[in-house]
Amino acid sequence: MTAPTPSSTRVDVAIQGIRLLDAPVSRRSGAGPSDDGHVLLDGVGAAIPLNPRSPYSVRGGKLLLDGADTGLGVEAVRRPRFYDRSTADGVPYEKIARLHSSNVLATTVVQTCVRYDEDQRCRFCAIEESLRAGATVAVKSPAQIAEVALAAYELDGITQMVMTTGTSNGRDRGATHLARCVRAVREVLPDLPVQVQCEPPGDLATIQELYDAGARSIGIHVESLDDDVRARWMPGKGSVPMSEYRAAWAEAVRVFGWNEVSTYLLVGLGEDPDELVAGVEELIAMGVYPFVVPFRPLAGTLATDVDHVPAPDPRVLGSVTTRVAAALRAAGMTGASQSAGCAACGACSALSCEGA
Ligand code: SF4
Repeated sequence: MTAPTPSSTRVDVAIQGIRLLDAPVSRRSGAGPSDDGHVLLDGVGAAIPLNPRSPYSVRGGKLLLDGADTGLGVEAVRRPRFYDRSTADGVPYEKIARLHSSNVLATTVVQTCVRYDEDQRCRFCAIEESLRAGATVAVKSPAQIAEVALAAYELDGITQMVMTTGTSNGRDRGATHLARCVRAVREVLPDLPVQVQCEPPGDLATIQELYDAGARSIGIHVESLDDDVRARWMPGKGSVPMSEYRAAWAEAVRVFGWNEVSTYLLVGLGEDPDELVAGVEELIAMGVYPFVVPFRPLAGTLATDVDHVPAPDPRVLGSVTTRVAAALRAAGMTGASQSAGCAACGACSALSCEGA
């Protein structure tokens, strides 16, 4: 058997997780991939599921597979100092924004989603679970977010910020509050790169408003390019037609620039891998970065609690990641060259290990 390369090991760890006893920075529930421990794998940030049954473990700062040294070093990201502070009215900063990986400040500005009814909800999402658990507050004000961002910058040296939102009932689908929050952060930290994440806003002019507020990257996340998968997994969000996504991506590339626009694509929802890669090539041709991540079975989601969907086969994830990375490299597109956001962070995907 050939020894796994560092890249294939990282893909495998992203799926199987790690038995890490002490990860001071972790994400429970929330929007997007979570329930992860933030570690540095050979110095590179990675969000790895914490799984007591994983064959991967850690001893003496080394990653072990079934007890054997993989040659990769592991270090838990230390708990940031800003977590020890609270606002004047007593809200812990940790409930307003969290450290992701080692240098990204992330917040969900509105922690509720109009699509969270059981028959509309994205089956992989747990956005309101952290709210129910009391780990966050429903709506963060621009002033609260700016206060926390400044502290995280001064105390912990964050280098970029990600702001996402649950979808609101309004025509803007939540983008207007995002813009207010970006503006407030940029008033106190004018040079901090900020990425915003939202659904395609009903009025495309909102995309310009987000840029004018100071955001420099944008994620408009479709999660799957396959309409059947979208209908099955995202009954609410999947009702937004692909034509709206394409129009929003095109406008976002016009406003934010080539490779400053990205979209999450989840592997493991039952899509055809070849069709996924073909769709990715169209996105790349538009200037949109496809952030390919594995579907992760999270407690509190319908996919886990009701459907019992397992994580994807590591070989399929590895093959898709390798092919998408090759297409990105051929186009000269890398996540690391984006100003801010998930692709710039890279912790939740193995694309960065493949030079993309
Ligand atoms: S890739 Fe995005 S969600 Fe994952 S740790 Fe980085 S900023 Fe957070």
